[in-house]
Amino acid sequence: MTATLIKHPKGDLLIDTGFGRDIAQHLATLPLFFRLLTRYSLNKTAREQLQSSGYDLTRLRAILLTHSHWDHISGAADFPEVPVWIPPAERSFVQGEDFTTAPARSIKSLHLEEYRFDAHPYLGFAESHDVHGDGTVVIVPAPGHSPGSVIVFVTLPDNKRYAFIGDLAWQLEGVTEQEERPLTQRLADVEPRLVRENLAHMAAISARYPEMTIVVAHDPRSFASIPTLVPKP
Ligand SMILES: [Zn+2]
Repeated sequence: MTATLIKHPKGDLLIDTGFGRDIAQHLATLPLFFRLLTRYSLNKTAREQLQSSGYDLTRLRAILLTHSHWDHISGAADFPEVPVWIPPAERSFVQGEDFTTAPARSIKSLHLEEYRFDAHPYLGFAESHDVHGDGTVVIVPAPGHSPGSVIVFVTLPDNKRYAFIGDLAWQLEGVTEQEERPLTQRLADVEPRLVRENLAHMAAISARYPEMTIVVAHDPRSFASIPTLVPKP
């Protein structure tokens, strides 16, 4: 469960948040079968890692979620002062009654802020949201795993590119070989058909831009080229 810090002169973003300090409480809001299937251990939270590295938390402009499931939003509870950006479809999902968003609803300090997509196509996606207006962080809608799931494309000053696809797949082969998750998709995805479409789309992008790193939220191999924070001595 991961969080990725994207630094930018106009304000930094945290893509997803991993497990926060209150993960046990968040997990407790999920149904029994889910809890019985879940084993986890809590390492240092995103906030603890940022603080121990000497990071200035006032630089953090927003938390940008790939989607609002427990394992992506839990750490947001540790940043009550930072708004959480989601598109309208995901906000409705959080505010509805789906059991998978009960952990999100249980975080009372959550300050959701909506952003919207405009009609600017990006890499074949019909709509996009260019966060800073300079192409460095561009979000596109990729519904299916949840109604408001997104993909975040990040381009660094040296032109290195990343696509944070969240849980569109659970392993890199989900994209490169378009392998779906047949056993769990019924449980995990609100619309498997849309997941399939978006996987095909990402596979085409990955084939066309082989230098782009596809960051699959739960595949540690995705993070190999991303530097980790180093605690200050
Ligand atoms: Zn997840």
